[in-house]
Amino acid sequence: MISRFQSYLDVIDVKLKEMFENQAPFIKCKIGCAYCCREGDYPVSELEYVNMMLYYNSLQDNLKGAINEKINSLIEQKREKYYECPFLIKGVCSIYPARPLICRTFGLISYTESGRKKIPFCVNLGLNYSEVFDEKTSKIVKCAQDGTEPNAYNIDRLFLRRKEIEETFRIYFGEDKALIDWLKEEG
Ligand code: SF4
Repeated sequence: MISRFQSYLDVIDVKLKEMFENQAPFIKCKIGCAYCCREGDYPVSELEYVNMMLYYNSLQDNLKGAINEKINSLIEQKREKYYECPFLIKGVCSIYPARPLICRTFGLISYTESGRKKIPFCVNLGLNYSEVFDEKTSKIVKCAQDGTEPNAYNIDRLFLRRKEIEETFRIYFGEDKALIDWLKEEG
């Protein structure tokens, strides 16, 4: 099933690349910026978690050790929400090719299940979409200098793991949990 999941991720990555390119006037993502990995609870399905841990198993021992230290520290501190992802090592995602959907889609404006537009929180840090964001109304109100308007996309993680996707790719996402809960279960 993991190879079929990888095929699915390949399809998603192509689509996301097009979306990020389309939104380039509004995007500030760059190597070294990892705000989106520093404070979250990272909901992850069982299939995504297994994929992450398979990649983790292939890492060198020193990198695994650094990740384990962060995991143990989070568990000792009983962190449940708003923690730095333990896979972020020296400001870089140590499992980047196997990162979950929530990480792949972060940075764009998405539609929630109820059809509401969700703006990435880094807008408040002066990053993505900040030049076209009105802080008073918390809405996108302006266009870029070249007249480009921001788009919103159907990339909510629940949409990306819907039944139809499972049937098409013959995959099963399974249960959803916060990353820390999967890691606690691993022991
Ligand atoms: S898995 Fe990687 S990209 Fe996702 S939050 Fe963790 S470090 Fe960041």
